Parts: sequence; structure tokens; C-alpha cells
Amino acid sequence: MNAVSKKQLIKGNLFMRIMKEKCPNCGNGDVYQKKTKFLQLPVMKDNCENCQYHFDREPGYFIGAMYISYGLAVFQAILTFLTLYVFLPNIPTILVVLAILFVLSVFSIKNYKLSRIIYIHIFPC
Ligand SMILES: [Zn+2]
Repeated sequence: MNAVSKKQLIKGNLFMRIMKEKCPNCGNGDVYQKKTKFLQLPVMKDNCENCQYHFDREPGYFIGAMYISYGLAVFQAILTFLTLYVFLPNIPTILVVLAILFVLSVFSIKNYKLSRIIYIHIFPC
């Protein structure tokens, strides 16, 4: 096995690494700590337990992740709107707005986690 295929084997599929919240450097370590309570907010680890990759590079590093979070939220809102528009075309507008707000609040924690992970995959150091 040559070096390139071994490296790809370790890192795996980029999409799956992001969805499984894995380290951008090795692809094996978890970025977030395990939840111990039901409604616990996600806590990012300081370093990868597998390769010691430092996740939080500097103060304010993850401010750029807000743009990714915004993009994810807009995508989900448009997807919710189009789903309701196709399957329930006569639904009142206020229910469409409430449905979009519900979907955004349900996925807000996942958006928070995903936006940071996508950000560290885009800008690794
Ligand atoms: Zn790692």
C-alpha cells in the first residue's frame, strides 16, 4: 500500500468525516465531547485525542463559522419552504413561517456544530 492510498484510507470520505464530526487532520478523533445530559450544549475539545491537532487556533477563529451557519440555515429554510409549497400549496403563510422557525430551531445545535467543523475543514492550520 503506497502512502497516498494509506492517507486516504485514514481520512475517509470528506462528507462523512464532516457529518460524523471527526478531526480534519486525521479523520479519526472526535471534535466534540460526548453529551452527558440531554439538553447539554456542545463543547468542543481543545485537541484531537488521536493526533493532538489543536482545534481552536486563536481567539475569534470561529467567527467565520457564522457565515457557514447562516448558509446552512438559509438552505434549510428554503428546503422547508419548497417542501411545503409542493406538498401543501394552500397552507397559510403564517404556518409556513412557523414551520420554518420550527425547523431552524430543531436544527440549530446541529448547524452550530456542523458550521464549526466545516470551517476547520476549509481553513486547517
Ligand atoms: Zn486528529
